[in-house]
Amino acid sequence: MKKVLIIGAGGVGQVVTHKCAQLPEVFSEIVLASRTQSKCIAIAKQIEESQGRIIETARVDADNVPELVGLLNDVQPFMVINVALPYQDLTIMDACLEAGVHYLDTANYEPLETAKFEYSWQWEYQERFEKAGLMALLGSGFDPGATNMFTAYIAKHYFDEIHYLDIIDVNGGDHGYPFATNFNPEINIREVTAECRHWEDGAFVTTPAMSTKQSFTCPDEVGTYNIYRMYHEELESLTKHYPTLKRAQFWMSFGESYLKHLEVLGNVGMTGIEPIDFKGQKIVPIQFLKELLPDPSTLGPRTKGKTCIGCVVRGIKDGKEKTVYVYNIKDHQDCYGEVQSQAISYTTGVPAMIGAKMMVEGKWLKDGVWNMEQLDPDPFMEDMNLYGLPFKVIEEPGFDLI
Ligand code: NDP
Repeated sequence: MKKVLIIGAGGVGQVVTHKCAQLPEVFSEIVLASRTQSKCIAIAKQIEESQGRIIETARVDADNVPELVGLLNDVQPFMVINVALPYQDLTIMDACLEAGVHYLDTANYEPLETAKFEYSWQWEYQERFEKAGLMALLGSGFDPGATNMFTAYIAKHYFDEIHYLDIIDVNGGDHGYPFATNFNPEINIREVTAECRHWEDGAFVTTPAMSTKQSFTCPDEVGTYNIYRMYHEELESLTKHYPTLKRAQFWMSFGESYLKHLEVLGNVGMTGIEPIDFKGQKIVPIQFLKELLPDPSTLGPRTKGKTCIGCVVRGIKDGKEKTVYVYNIKDHQDCYGEVQSQAISYTTGVPAMIGAKMMVEGKWLKDGVWNMEQLDPDPFMEDMNLYGLPFKVIEEPGFDLI
């Protein structure tokens, strides 16, 4: 039983806090801190009403290391679950090192002024965490997170060597708005407008954003969707830790309306990250756009449909080639019924809770900085089944993927 400090009271923070609160035998005390304390208080109130559990709250600017260290020294948690924004990863890791606290996040570091995310900055902390006797678990959301676990689980139980990996993220949910993003709009738009990179024959190959698409029919009648190849951060760690991979690609579904709006917003400069002068004031177009768009944490009651996220792995077992698909399907309204959030926040928040549980229970506790697939997938996958994200495995699914 351990005390945890959750930082970030957005869509994902709400789900992690609900899910940790459901397990008092693991998370004996929970403190939720964020930039806007009223959002923490609103989540704490939901949990008190639905579960009768009291969550403490605090205000913190996670860009400010001394302020974070002060909070960590006051709270004295076993670990931090960082579900603020990728911009805060390094400051929170610095504070954890200074205060002697374990660390977990769901997205890799991205500098505010460059739309570029990669693990190099966080991998550099390996020696410092190891020397301090602390663990940092990177990318414990769904993708990255569950997708890394799916790959590791399939590689461990179904193959001698894996050669081809396709991660397919379909959101068949509809929120009824012409344009809205399911998680932080700024992070989402930076991600989907980036050049595409996929792994092929030992190197990353770059192609224009959204230039390759195919149709994908999900199992269990979730539907048929256009999926677009894009870069996603787990490709970097998975290709490093599975050097037998000849090709690794990430695909995400997007509707026509989303893509049309994104194209127009891009064409008129609204997705830019460079500050511009507006009537004597500096504004960053994408940050202004975020203020106009629906807050993802409000999409819960109106989003209907299902997500279907999984990995198709091709490789060799006993000298023969085979293909295995592992996936989870989650219904947006079921998530709303349980934790008052839509499925994108839910599918991120549950693996964050499970990753933290693995650390609290000592199943994964190891000094240093770790990506998910470097750890044993079995206890994590068992908990996916138990805590709201059950998975299915299909051998020889018969997909005809590019
Ligand atoms: P939101 O924008 O809804 O929430 C972010 C929260 O962080 C807000 O409460 C915000 O505060 C807070 N915050 C931002 N800056 C600071 C700061 N300097 N100090 C303290 N708190 C701060 O985002 P989401 O909940 O949608 O996403 C959270 C994280 O989860 C992101 O890193 C995102 O990339 C990641 N993610 C990962 C996924 C995965 O599958 N691996 C999928 C989806 C998201 P305020 O309310 O004041 O703005």
